[in-house]
Amino acid sequence: MAKRDYYEVLGVSKGASKDEIKKAYRKLAVKHHPDKNPGDKKAEELFKEASEAYEVLADDKKRQTYDQFGFAGLEGMGGGGGGAQDFSSVFRDFGDIFGDFGIFDSFFGGGGRGGGGQRRRSSAVRGSDLRYDLKVPFKDAAFGTKVEVSYNRSVQCESCSGHGAEPGTGKKTCPGCGGTGQVRRSSGFFSIASTCPNCNGDGTIIESPCKTCRGAGRVEKHTRIKVTIPPGIENGKRINIPGQGDAGKNGGPPGDLYVFINVEPHEYYERDGADLYCVIPVDIVQASLGTEITVPTLENKRVKLKIPAGTQNGKILRLRNEGIPHLNNANKRGDLYIKIKVDVPTKLSSKSKDLLKELGELEGSNSSPQPVPLREL
Ligand SMILES: [Zn+2]
Ligand SMILES: [Zn+2]
Repeated sequence: MAKRDYYEVLGVSKGASKDEIKKAYRKLAVKHHPDKNPGDKKAEELFKEASEAYEVLADDKKRQTYDQFGFAGLEGMGGGGGGAQDFSSVFRDFGDIFGDFGIFDSFFGGGGRGGGGQRRRSSAVRGSDLRYDLKVPFKDAAFGTKVEVSYNRSVQCESCSGHGAEPGTGKKTCPGCGGTGQVRRSSGFFSIASTCPNCNGDGTIIESPCKTCRGAGRVEKHTRIKVTIPPGIENGKRINIPGQGDAGKNGGPPGDLYVFINVEPHEYYERDGADLYCVIPVDIVQASLGTEITVPTLENKRVKLKIPAGTQNGKILRLRNEGIPHLNNANKRGDLYIKIKVDVPTKLSSKSKDLLKELGELEGSNSSPQPVPLREL
């Protein structure tokens, strides 16, 4: 098939300005783009033809050669005349031409070989966040404390200031991709670009890796920091310590450290938010006649508690403001709820037994009780 004249292909005059050529090509490329015409061989041909024409006419030197010698003159110059495998110069102004046509990005993987119009550069990456699971004694969670935690995190390598190169050495062009950051493989007429595995898309590799960090730019460091545990913190909450995670890459900021609070259970106390619960035993005499006892709070303060006469087993009494400080307002405190457990005596002297028998006769023990309605429990 005879080749069409490049000017004819783009539909411009011989004296067309660069701008006119660019506009004409852009119009054709968008119209015939394979992404827009899937499976359409004709469109693919037209796209290829237009791209080839543009590659030549957009290049002053190639255009001049073409004007003078026609297709023959382009032989051996690479690009256009030799087929359209190489889009390099076309896509030199890639962003310029297709800036507002996102469709090309996916298709060409971001840029042409050697052109570098949209070559992917390694960009700053924020460091990873780290998680530290901290066991906090019940009382420390209630009243707050400071805890030193130690862990390993990556920090910027001091020897190479994070660049990864041995001091005094630099970077060199990646031999895997020739500095483009991308490798291409052919898929029919089109070639597909993917990130170069040798340099991770950077286009350069380190000439001589830093001996301290082996080129990573970051090193593991054992870190100790003091963490403030605020009063009233609850199990499962986390404390964010900004900037204490892993160092960033390529100048990115460090991640954060998240300290997850795991409140250890207490032998005697349970909590629900800022309220505390505990169980206090009294004997049948105290429960029957009523009395005043002192009970320990979580802080080991002794607080007076009045047991009313006739207190049943399981009754809950409340001591105001003897709970835990509120997390966001340490001046406010929850309450201490005390569940009364009436202890039945198990080891009785014969005198006690006699007295209890006498009590039974006096009060008249019920020998055929009815079930208690469940709602009363
Ligand atoms: Zn280093
Ligand atoms: Zn590479």
